[in-house]
Amino acid sequence: MAAVWKPSSSPVSAAFTRGLDFVSDPLLPRRCISCGTVVDGDGALCASCRPEIRFLSRPHCQACGFPFEFDHAADARCAACYRDPPLYERARAVFRYDDASRQALLAFKHADRTDVAPDFAGMMAQAGSELLTGADLIVPVPLHRRRLISRRYNQSALLVLALAKITSVAAVPACTKVLLRGGACVVDVLTLARVVRPASK
Ligand SMILES: [Zn+2]
Ligand SMILES: [Zn+2]
Repeated sequence: MAAVWKPSSSPVSAAFTRGLDFVSDPLLPRRCISCGTVVDGDGALCASCRPEIRFLSRPHCQACGFPFEFDHAADARCAACYRDPPLYERARAVFRYDDASRQALLAFKHADRTDVAPDFAGMMAQAGSELLTGADLIVPVPLHRRRLISRRYNQSALLVLALAKITSVAAVPACTKVLLRGGACVVDVLTLARVVRPASK
């Protein structure tokens, strides 16, 4: 199954689509999403901030993507996922949500730095390549109508639309429970950042 989502002309959708016009002026120098200094070359992060970001990679829990310190079997799950299996099939994230990544995420979510959506989407395509292979749809987490109007754009939808351009997988708005209730067999979750807490015993 494949579906293409197109925003309607409602006021909420209009507020939403305003954020889709990625601000990208070739005459202005690109600024680091995290510290605001001019970036030397392409990319959302400067040479000082990028090494501070803790990117997530294998080995990790096959289900939730929690990073393991040591190599495990490819289908190994963390203690939390054994104890209480998540509803979704697999979750992956690009980097840890911590002090180093917080400013970048806040700028993307609240400071109109929508120009970095394609950069972040590229990172997500890499981190979520196994999820995206064979995926029919990519679904952004919806924002409450009031929050959407005050924030003017849904950063999750911006990522999904940019990701859909890279992967050619279609995008629609909805959520995990809704998809499962609607009869989806498998729901995977791909995020830009995640909180990484020590594994529970
Ligand atoms: Zn920086
Ligand atoms: Zn897990």
